[in-house]
Amino acid sequence: AAGLRFVSTGMEYPDGTVALEGVDLDVRPGQFVSVVGPSGCGKSTLLRLASRLEHHTSGEVAVDPHALAYVFQDATLLPWRSVKKNVALFCELRGDGKADIARRVQEAIDLVGLTGFENHYPHQLSGGMRMRASVARCLTVDPGVFLFDEPFGALDEISRQKLNDDLQTLFHAQKFAALFVTHSIAEAVYLSTEVVVMSGRPGRILDRVPVPFAYP
Ligand code: ADP
Ligand code: ADP
Repeated sequence: AAGLRFVSTGMEYPDGTVALEGVDLDVRPGQFVSVVGPSGCGKSTLLRLASRLEHHTSGEVAVDPHALAYVFQDATLLPWRSVKKNVALFCELRGDGKADIARRVQEAIDLVGLTGFENHYPHQLSGGMRMRASVARCLTVDPGVFLFDEPFGALDEISRQKLNDDLQTLFHAQKFAALFVTHSIAEAVYLSTEVVVMSGRPGRILDRVPVPFAYP
């Protein structure tokens, strides 16, 4: 099944903390859903369940694990590999052919705006550019579902705004399902087709607000 679906999903950690209760959420291809809410309301837990880093304890989580791309706050690039070789990593692990890898890598690098930086190393890049490389690496394997965990938290305001602009363009063109956790309501509204507001302990979905003007 394309997309991501939570049905009456609950999560109780082994120490007895109930982090989520009765979460119903559907993220379909072409939807970019942001999750906002106070610290401790279960946003990270929701992403961990979607990514299978943790397993839910009640209800259902439906997602094709092979279609997942997970973008963390600190872009996890290998320092000894150039941008090109970093972006190629997932294709290499999957055993794609050389020509296919080269084509996918260049396409992804162009899409995220890193053309010309193929042979740079991570330490030669700004934080925003490292994040772009990290997104490019995900794009090479045609993910169906993108998960973002506060990906721009460590960036300065200008890099953040530029990345927001470019991501919005990129995600408008491609038909991913995206679930995006952020502390910034402005960012959520800017990027999303829908903003999900979470609250409480255990965390629940309080409200779902469509953003009709995000994707004209
Ligand atoms: P948020 O991302 O919104 O800050 P979290 O998903 O990190 O919220 O946490 C939700 C709740 O679950 C909090 O009460 C937190 O203390 C608790 N929690 C998170 N991770 C664990 C864990 N590994 N073990 C026990 N409790 C946890
Ligand atoms: P981003 O939003 O991608 O983080 P930055 O504000 O960090 O953008 O950088 C703006 C521009 O400066 C980049 O698009 C790039 O052209 C250039 N730049 C940043 N870091 C470097 C670097 N280490 N070497 C060369 N050019 C750089």
